[in-house]
Amino acid sequence: MSITPEILQKMLPAVSDVIDRNADQITELDQAIGDGDHLFNLQRGLHALVSQAADLSQKESWSGAWRSIGMTMMSTVGGASGSLYGTMFVAMSKAAVDRHIDLAVFADAFAQGVESIKLRGKSDAGEKTMLDVLIPVANYLQDAAEKSTELSEILDTIPEIAEAGVEATRDMVATKGRASFLGERAVGHIDAGAKTMQLMICASVDVIKKSASPA
Ligand code: ADP
Ligand code: MG
Repeated sequence: MSITPEILQKMLPAVSDVIDRNADQITELDQAIGDGDHLFNLQRGLHALVSQAADLSQKESWSGAWRSIGMTMMSTVGGASGSLYGTMFVAMSKAAVDRHIDLAVFADAFAQGVESIKLRGKSDAGEKTMLDVLIPVANYLQDAAEKSTELSEILDTIPEIAEAGVEATRDMVATKGRASFLGERAVGHIDAGAKTMQLMICASVDVIKKSASPA
């Protein structure tokens, strides 16, 4: 099965909806250990992307679509997270230039996107951020590509990994972002940026599942 940017017509509204539906929880999380603006930052970006979904779904390549998504995220989201999301999609776009996107190429582009967040954020796994969801997912994708794992199995496994990643942030001491100002007091709370990343990944996976097996 080949997945083209056409899927963005459904994926972007689904991603935006899941964030809107979990608004209260996201704000509570970010108020506990951040400054409470993460929901609004992210919604600004996602609502802009939804308004561009028709155009984005007409892009001829994933490289072109990811580039536009990255630019929109950078210019609309704001906060620390805005430049990180933007950087990730721009890096994925660069990795995908002139390449046909199969599982191995997607896994490579995704991994390069995650690397770019580490570089931009001067951050890594275990620091109580969105990276605690992204890194395990990127590692799993690369492993799955090497083993030629079935798409259906990949789509069942990614949500489990993303959920485990969010849960793992609960016991971490934050060393990056605003939560780091709290030191040990952030322990016991999951990270808002990890939660929204998990929600967005799971919503994207759901859309791919539905398109792979139309009801
Ligand atoms: P801000 O921290 O500027 O208020 P947001 O509230 O939009 O920005 O985003 C906060 C989220 O961004 C955090 O929950 C965390 O997941 C993520 N984050 C913050 N700093 C970093 C970093 N250096 N590396 C990776 N992720 C980060
Ligand atoms: Mg914030």
